[in-house]
Amino acid sequence: MSDESPKPKKVLNKSKVKTPMREQEAAARIFNFEEVPLGYNEQEATQEALRCIDCKDKPCVAGCPVGIDIPAFLKLVGDKDFEGALRKIKEKNFLPAICGRVCPQEDQCEMVCTLNRPDKGREAGGIGRVERFLGDYAMEHNLTITPTVAPATGKRVAIIGSGPAGLTAASDLAQKGHAVTVFEALHKPGGVLFYGIPQFRLPKEILMREVEGLRDMGVEFVMNYPVGKAESLDSVRERFDVVFVSTGAGLPWFLGIPGENLNGVYSANEFLTRVNLMGGYKFPDGADTPVKKIKRIAVIGAGNTAMDSARTAKRLQPEVVYLVYRRSRLEMPARVEEIHHAEQEGVEFNLLHSPLEIVNDGKGAVGAIRCQEMELGEPDASGRRKPVAIEGKVREFAVDTVVIAIGQGPNPLLTADCPELARDPKKGTILINDVMQTSLPNVFAGGDIVTGGATVILAMGQGRVAADAMHRYLMTGDPRDPFAQAGGSGVCPNLT
Ligand SMILES: Cc1cc2nc3c(=O)[nH]c(=O)nc-3n(C[C@H](O)[C@H](O)[C@H](O)COP(=O)(O)OP(=O)(O)OC[C@H]3O[C@@H](n4cnc5c(N)ncnc54)[C@H](O)[C@@H]3O)c2cc1C
Repeated sequence: MSDESPKPKKVLNKSKVKTPMREQEAAARIFNFEEVPLGYNEQEATQEALRCIDCKDKPCVAGCPVGIDIPAFLKLVGDKDFEGALRKIKEKNFLPAICGRVCPQEDQCEMVCTLNRPDKGREAGGIGRVERFLGDYAMEHNLTITPTVAPATGKRVAIIGSGPAGLTAASDLAQKGHAVTVFEALHKPGGVLFYGIPQFRLPKEILMREVEGLRDMGVEFVMNYPVGKAESLDSVRERFDVVFVSTGAGLPWFLGIPGENLNGVYSANEFLTRVNLMGGYKFPDGADTPVKKIKRIAVIGAGNTAMDSARTAKRLQPEVVYLVYRRSRLEMPARVEEIHHAEQEGVEFNLLHSPLEIVNDGKGAVGAIRCQEMELGEPDASGRRKPVAIEGKVREFAVDTVVIAIGQGPNPLLTADCPELARDPKKGTILINDVMQTSLPNVFAGGDIVTGGATVILAMGQGRVAADAMHRYLMTGDPRDPFAQAGGSGVCPNLT
């Protein structure tokens, strides 16, 4: 008789709703910058993983921009094999603690999850929450799943920009044995993950740990080095065998209304950078870069950047934080969770209001913002109902600070220096071919600089695809996979 006792049969969790995640109470958290959701413990993560029914079609895998085998890692978590689950995720995504926190899962893997049937009162599997748990588990248990690095190839790679696209490409190329140097304009690596997304949504220690992992793999970081100013792209191209441009979309857009040059008007980028990167909220005792003392603030926009700005502002203890958006709640582009958290924290939404003018207080600073009241008309080119002015209805909000968070485009610092690098004439994004190669053969590009403002996971996915092509380019001179089918996005019209 075998001495192996039979494994107990795994019992699926038939709960219709996600295992709740504990979070800081709104009344307490607006006084600190600590993280809001507190994450799952082992028991909660296991319980949530056991909601996965391991359905036949596995739509979640196709719904994930980097194709993580989600049912496989959930099954391993259900078996309490957390290390195995982590290995499974890391096959496709080396930043689970980050993606588990900031990925819009509700529009990706969780949206297409078979369990997701609101009509039957059933919620999708909490894939992001379990992913986050695994990322945190690795940190808490000092579990470094450092990938093996292949023997040195003698090839030198330059990565320009250290956001999620650049970090992913750096990791993949270092693993293949290439010598990787990352050039970053700012003094901290991480791109938007550092300077944009606030500490209460993504603690920076998590990011720094991932960056340390890259350093351990031999990746060199050169900070305070804006390519295009410190050194031209042409010069970098000469010094390295191949270059990956991942400089993001950090150039803020403005409204083009009177008063935008008044004191007290910030782009969301500047506002968030002052607080997140420069620690402005600690001024004068913990940081040298102040944020103006705010009494009443209006944040314009309704995307993630606007929610981050409004929630950051709330933590600076003003009397009131207004959010001003020209469309309705239905059209707000921010994640549902962010909208919910902002409301919980007391951000006052003024929807269907379009700014007309920022009013001078008589001393060259912001005194108020005048807004046109709107209603929704017919759908426009974006498919969303167009906001139309309601004649005669104008409102003024008394404020001393305005943050403009209506989107951003590619920063031309690097591209302006190199006219041969083909760009979209309207958007300024870099054009690439089906293997993410630009009009310059040894320059590849990916992330927001190619797509325009998108998501962390899309930027990471592009970093990975580009790294594959760059590796082939370095080893064979041809970036294409000879076994792959011809075709691709072909978004660069001047290349074939
Ligand atoms: C406030 C905010 C909140 C967001 N929230 C979310 C979210 O919750 N979930 C989500 O999925 N996405 C979110 N996004 C979008 C997401 O962060 C971006 O899509 C993603 O970071 C793009 O990655 P990237 O690597 O292409 O560029 P970035 O992250 O922008 O990094 C580019 C880096 O390149 C550097 N750089 C620029 N020019 C040069 C140069 N000439 N030389 C050297 N370095 C240079 C920049 O300093 C920067 O560090 C948010 C964006 C913002 C602004």
